[in-house]
Amino acid sequence: MRLNLTGQRYGRLTVLYRTRNVRHGQYDVVCRCKCGTITTVALNHLRLSRTVSCGCFRMEQARKASPKGEAHGAAKLTEADIQEIFNRRTQGMLQREIAAEYGVARTTIAAILQRRKWRHLHR
Ligand SMILES: [Zn+2]
Repeated sequence: MRLNLTGQRYGRLTVLYRTRNVRHGQYDVVCRCKCGTITTVALNHLRLSRTVSCGCFRMEQARKASPKGEAHGAAKLTEADIQEIFNRRTQGMLQREIAAEYGVARTTIAAILQRRKWRHLHR
């Protein structure tokens, strides 16, 4: 049976045409991604939704998974917070109690106390 795939959409990909290449009994198809990239993928990968973009989607996901700067862990603490954390520790508060209060990981508190971060702040 002859398949008419042209114009079919799979995720971000729109099928342009089918190639003559056959891999594992499946045709490769040439698609245009939403981002404008032309990519060749195996038809069964499209069908199984293994391939949903030219690779830009995966890159975006990876970027989301490892945010930089402000969104990242300790960056949400202000310099005043850091001073306060030192004070609390001096007063005998446990690292995990401080961490819970500030909503950060205990390891973040540990790093602050060990002055691995905010070194510039410190006396
Ligand atoms: Zn793309």
